[in-house]
Amino acid sequence: MNGENDTIAAIATAPGLGGISIVRISGPRSLAIAAQLTGTLPEPRMARCAQFKDPEGATLDEGLLLYFKAPNSYTGEDVVELHGHGGLMAPQMLLHAALDQGARLARPGEFTQRAYLKGKLDLAQAEAVADLVESRSSRAVKMAIRSLQGVFSAEVNRLATDLLGIRVLVEGTLDFPDEDPSIVVNETVRLRLRDAQERLKQLLKHSRQGEALRSAVRVVIIGRPNVGKSSLLNRLSGLDRAIVMDTPGTTRDVIEHPMTLEGFQIEIVDTAGIHETGDLVEREGVNRALKEMRAADIVLLIGDTESGLIADREYFASRMNPDIKLIHVRNKIDQIDGEARRTECDGQVCIRMSALTGAGLPLLMAALREAAGTAALDENAFLARSRHIEALQEASGYLDEANGRLQSEGATDLAAEELACAHRCLGRITGEIHSDELLGEIFSRFCIGK
Ligand code: GDP
Repeated sequence: MNGENDTIAAIATAPGLGGISIVRISGPRSLAIAAQLTGTLPEPRMARCAQFKDPEGATLDEGLLLYFKAPNSYTGEDVVELHGHGGLMAPQMLLHAALDQGARLARPGEFTQRAYLKGKLDLAQAEAVADLVESRSSRAVKMAIRSLQGVFSAEVNRLATDLLGIRVLVEGTLDFPDEDPSIVVNETVRLRLRDAQERLKQLLKHSRQGEALRSAVRVVIIGRPNVGKSSLLNRLSGLDRAIVMDTPGTTRDVIEHPMTLEGFQIEIVDTAGIHETGDLVEREGVNRALKEMRAADIVLLIGDTESGLIADREYFASRMNPDIKLIHVRNKIDQIDGEARRTECDGQVCIRMSALTGAGLPLLMAALREAAGTAALDENAFLARSRHIEALQEASGYLDEANGRLQSEGATDLAAEELACAHRCLGRITGEIHSDELLGEIFSRFCIGK
């Protein structure tokens, strides 16, 4: 009983204590199961109060009953929703009653997979559903919604349609092998191809921007003991998660703190103070800090004196990958009655601030956003996945090849093949071309009930 014609059921709401919980049922037996559980036959799209009963007639819960008749439902099949009380047991008992009536427990993402297979969503939109559920920043939510509404897919489809038009023209010339290809593959084709290349590159750029937003930017705080690393972390997160003490060397391990900063996701890592030490535990902490530093996107190098910061910069320069963005933080300016400000030295940003008073914090946040590249994030960015980027990159490569061949006025047949390959790459994104393996991989990462 694993087929597409099974009726599936799952709790669609998050487990745990809560006001309501929804058991969702989809498939040909949904209506019959609803009738068994409630003793009524619901009308489509009409909310109705109902008692939910087990097969022996004992009331399990009461709540709302909703029926979405195929094909006008999320999955495109008959769907019934039982809105009961939340909690740990009541939703489970209701689900089991539905299973007793012949439904099968849905696999992760199976509702959305059915929606895709029934043509309610394309593959990129189905992925946007999962992205929306998993979004941890307001920007990510906005982008996921745009993809879910089909904005990304529409761009991909428009490109695919253009490519198809170009293919028709190019492949048409293959039927007249005696003609001079430079005459047949005329300027119009070249112009259209160049335009498609341009738009594909633009789409790739917007997808890459969005991809960066999917994963948290890793910000590692580095500095000697007692310069105020933990205080800064606490200041940034507004939580007293790291231990702040007067004795040097209190942060012996690495503390990670996920947070969103003005709509983008960052993972702040507080490390052990870096200095030469004889203490074995501390030495391990220092090694870990250096390792963290190498895996960072952005390093915040903190010092509490000018001379200390300069010395540390020398120390770290040799140990750091040059791609990592470095922001210097001169902390504790309150001790010298200094003014919070931003300066630049050798192209590197230095923020003079106080973790204790909070002076200069907005300057640091602005510098972080800039370094994370999210300050310049285009409104048109898409929350793309790496498989989309790969497909777009591949398509772009094929278009460049095809263009090269058409420019040199030979090998039109090879150009036609490359255009066909580019076209197929785009089809992979929206799922026009898919394998069961790919579907399995995508939907198995969804939560149950979605
Ligand atoms: P860490 O060892 O680098 O993590 O440093 P901590 O955050 O534990 O701070 C060490 C000491 O410096 C604590 O007593 C903090 O209260 C103090 N401190 C941190 N930031 C500031 C600051 O901006 N101004 C002043 N005056 N003291 C600070």
